[in-house]
Amino acid sequence: MDRHEEWIVRVALDQPTPTLFEYRYATAHKPQAGQLAHVPFGRRMETGLIWGIVSQSALPLARLREVEAIWHVCPPLSAKWRALLQFAADYYQRGLGEIALPALPGALRDTRRWPRLSAHLHNAQQAQPASAAVSGSEIHIAAPALTSGQAQALQQLNTARGFAPFLLHGVTGSGKTEVYLRLLTALFARTPDAQALVLVPEINLTPQIEAILRARIQSASDAAIITLHSGLSEGARARRWLAAHCGHARIVIGTRLAVLASLPRLALIIVDEEHDAAYKQQEGLRYSARDLAVWRARQLDIPVVLGSATPALETWRHAEQGRYARLSLPRRAHFEAALPAVHLIHTGDARQRSAQNALPDISAPLLEALRARLERKEQSLIFLNRRGYAPVLACDACGWLAGCARCSVYAVLHKAERALRCHHCGLQTSVPRACPVCGNIDLAPLGRGTQRIEESLLPAFPGARIARLDADSARRKGCAQMLFDRMHAGDVDILIGTQMIAKGHDFQRVTLVGILNSDAALFSHDFRAGERLFAQLMQAGGRAGRAGCGEVLIQTRYPHHPLYQALRRHDYAGFAAAALAERRQARLPPFIYQALLRAEAHTLEAALDFLSRAAAALDRQPEAVAVTRYDPVPMNIVKIRRLHRAQFLLESASRAALQRTLSAWRPDLRALKVRGIVRWMIEVDPLDI
Ligand code: ADP
Ligand code: ZN
Ligand code: ZN
Repeated sequence: MDRHEEWIVRVALDQPTPTLFEYRYATAHKPQAGQLAHVPFGRRMETGLIWGIVSQSALPLARLREVEAIWHVCPPLSAKWRALLQFAADYYQRGLGEIALPALPGALRDTRRWPRLSAHLHNAQQAQPASAAVSGSEIHIAAPALTSGQAQALQQLNTARGFAPFLLHGVTGSGKTEVYLRLLTALFARTPDAQALVLVPEINLTPQIEAILRARIQSASDAAIITLHSGLSEGARARRWLAAHCGHARIVIGTRLAVLASLPRLALIIVDEEHDAAYKQQEGLRYSARDLAVWRARQLDIPVVLGSATPALETWRHAEQGRYARLSLPRRAHFEAALPAVHLIHTGDARQRSAQNALPDISAPLLEALRARLERKEQSLIFLNRRGYAPVLACDACGWLAGCARCSVYAVLHKAERALRCHHCGLQTSVPRACPVCGNIDLAPLGRGTQRIEESLLPAFPGARIARLDADSARRKGCAQMLFDRMHAGDVDILIGTQMIAKGHDFQRVTLVGILNSDAALFSHDFRAGERLFAQLMQAGGRAGRAGCGEVLIQTRYPHHPLYQALRRHDYAGFAAAALAERRQARLPPFIYQALLRAEAHTLEAALDFLSRAAAALDRQPEAVAVTRYDPVPMNIVKIRRLHRAQFLLESASRAALQRTLSAWRPDLRALKVRGIVRWMIEVDPLDI
């Protein structure tokens, strides 16, 4: 084997261009597609992925640069994985390398780490027992007897073979986790060396499900069940990713990025809380992890289970059309638990206002309910989707409102830190002593945030253990987990928080959920606001009475609004039917498909100029006849971090026509040069318009 051959490899690099880059590689060791390669690019060195090996280049051989190194120890990424990344790049209109490289843990792209990771791979290989690493047949702790709903769902799930998409529609507390667990157990009993992917929307939810799976599924090594998310250190993330890639990790629990993990023996995908907007990546590659999960299941010809109490309307429509099999868990699993009673408290009604002036935000019935819980030593949650103390600081004399210097939004008052903070760019300034316009020193906070509610509750319930959980309090590492642990241990009486407390948690002692200030979303310009609010409130309310009877109190000025009425009846199906009828009538998704072109520039004029040229180029595309194009407009929040933002919307009744148009149009966009433009991006299936 000392015959030196020369190979030409085509490498994907993290570059916005769609092209692959060709390099020479002179060695007896044949390179393989899917291997990582270190190559010169411009004046730098970069790590790329070998996408193919060709016998001839369009360029003269002498002009090709040489591959510096290939990481031969790491098993190549499979053709299936590469096809997934190719699909994601095409569908979301990005360069291949721009998607494929960031899908890998950063440490894998750092050649200095290759020797240590190689040693790790070698050791892991040695440690791997020949027999199955997990077995579902042995269960440490007693499993509950299944409810009839769970049993029926499992019967259908366990007979599924090949590509089979399921919607597991189970009310909050119906025991969807138990269904996942039994499904996994059955899978490993059947196929001991299979792999399963379990997606959850938030890092905060990984410890809960990991603990349940570890307690119930026997595994030979810790590496058999792993979590994969952005909160890990570079080294840990790389090692776990490699464990999945080599097949040692059998169950991968992860947030959205895990959908792009390499899983050579993937046999089952579960997407829990599939409706959650967190599955949509909001920067860089704007993909939907749920949608890619379904694509991946089809590609691999395996089952995929989407679980939710409040499915996305897109998913619900698939189920209605019979494209996804619907499994229903209409009742709570715990033998004593029923769905909570939902009461609407009309805050416009003077009698409902709190007698105590110190608590203008908490109505008398909610106050009473909180007091009763404290007496019975039960827990309460207060849900309010606004962090900080007050959403804005105002001058009564001249009407000045504190804004962010870099964004076109108000700065949020954070009283404890004596700061004004922008929730869009993070800019923080100290609270001014006087109005910068008129000098008035009487500046007053307007509106309520979680901090202000916390502050007002403390004197009302002296001695009560009151805690707050939102993005501010969770910023310190481990803080959210500590609070969840305290909740489970019964060391908190009242927990105030944003949507972070509403999702997925199985708090056994909570019997009351109070919901404040949710009305604004009823009248939002965003056509998805109602769907989001319904899901959020049903999920928040779903934390009440999971092991007994619970109560949800919603404070509102519009108690007769159909959304609240559907919530009161726990009627997701009724809400979904009405919402889908409206969407159909208004020709909105899921009845049509959308994409956005968005531009960010130093001036609004430049952004709009770019967009109007892009629009003209689009109108010249022959494919564009099946696509409706709207006019460029400034975005709702027109400025963030001093960048001006504008966009226009494209729609089509045909997803394929929209895709073809976008692909044909993209080269025109790359060729457009407009002064002042900082970046532009196409977003496919946008959630926020
Ligand atoms: P979901 O995810 O559907 O909201 P969970 O999976 O968190 O619900 O389950 C809710 C509670 O019901 C958990 O405490 C769980 O242990 C319990 N549970 C699940 N299945 C059963 C069952 N068959 N019998 C009794 N309790 C169950
Ligand atoms: Zn003023
Ligand atoms: Zn800002």
